[in-house]
Amino acid sequence: MSRIPLVDLAAAHAEVAEEVEVGFKRVIAATAFVGGAEVAAFEQEYAAFSGVRHCVGVANGTDALELAFRAVGVGPGGEVILPANTFIATAEAVARTGARPVLVDCDPRTYLIDTEAALAAVTPATQAIAPVHLYGQMADVERLRASGVPIVEDAAQSQGATRNGRTAGAGGIAATSFYPGKNLGAYGDAGAVVTSSEEWADTVRTLGSHGGRKKYQHDLIGVNSRLDGLQAVVLRAKLARLADGNARRRAAAARYHELLTDVDVVRPATDDGNEHVWHIYCVRIPDGHRDAVLAELNAQGIGAGIHYPFPVHKTGAFAHLGGSFPNAEAAAPEILSLPIYPQITPDQQARVTEALAAALQR
Ligand SMILES: *Cc1c(COP(=O)(O)O)cnc(C)c1O
Repeated sequence: MSRIPLVDLAAAHAEVAEEVEVGFKRVIAATAFVGGAEVAAFEQEYAAFSGVRHCVGVANGTDALELAFRAVGVGPGGEVILPANTFIATAEAVARTGARPVLVDCDPRTYLIDTEAALAAVTPATQAIAPVHLYGQMADVERLRASGVPIVEDAAQSQGATRNGRTAGAGGIAATSFYPGKNLGAYGDAGAVVTSSEEWADTVRTLGSHGGRKKYQHDLIGVNSRLDGLQAVVLRAKLARLADGNARRRAAAARYHELLTDVDVVRPATDDGNEHVWHIYCVRIPDGHRDAVLAELNAQGIGAGIHYPFPVHKTGAFAHLGGSFPNAEAAAPEILSLPIYPQITPDQQARVTEALAAALQR
């Protein structure tokens, strides 16, 4: 039987292949490899899609987070509050600014940052709170914003998601990643910062271009983090199809929900007010069976995965942070991500759920 990947990048490419080929020729003819007209057009289109005034393309999502943190004033001596259960990049980006990551637990149902815990962790040293819109739905940014602390949203998994009608970044600043497997994926590393603040957007753009607004005038100690013309071609072609792709992911998630009705797993929950974009469809398998189930699915050519196997404080890099986050620690050995992408077929989903049910029987 054919493999069912966790994410089908070949199927995604097939939908934009011609447009990408034509666009690549255009960029090569113009030799506009870093920045340029395609990048400027994409930035405008993504800002419009996100309902914000500015989008600044950068080299990857981790840089986007770091530069967004720096733009709101995060730096040495400060603290940034983030969830313990996230991709390591959220913590890395904080550490790279010189600030200290302060971890908090997650909600046991949605795995989003525990809003009350985040608000309780605010101290005079807090320079930002970084909610992660994990798996494709947004954390409670409105309540976090009421703290008065700058909110830097990690929107790497939530392109197109909304909460009470607003996208990430609409009320402040958000960083996103266009890593190939994200809902909006490039053909290499890429990322962006979105915000309606002219000042923050200018700071991010300046920091990403060696701290300069003009060539050879370096006002800040920056980095080299810019978006490439070839990536912008891919992103423009895929952005035009993103809303449709997200709708197909929602249909696939609804189908899994049905198919899993009588299967002994905990299905994912969506918070009120959220329009989920299902970057990841994460079920929970209690009682220590997760690893055996994962191995069995993988043996059958089904690309299930784990997002993420270790909370941040259980990694070698951040073990020094210590702490105890019971919900994140309980979830890590039980969560399992099933294949989901816009092109997944009902037959493929039936095969995934049958294999899952069979593995649980054993
Ligand atoms: C992918 C991801 C990032 C980092 O993005 P890169 O482009 O890989 O640097 C950050 N945070 C989360 C939650 C992610 O999923």
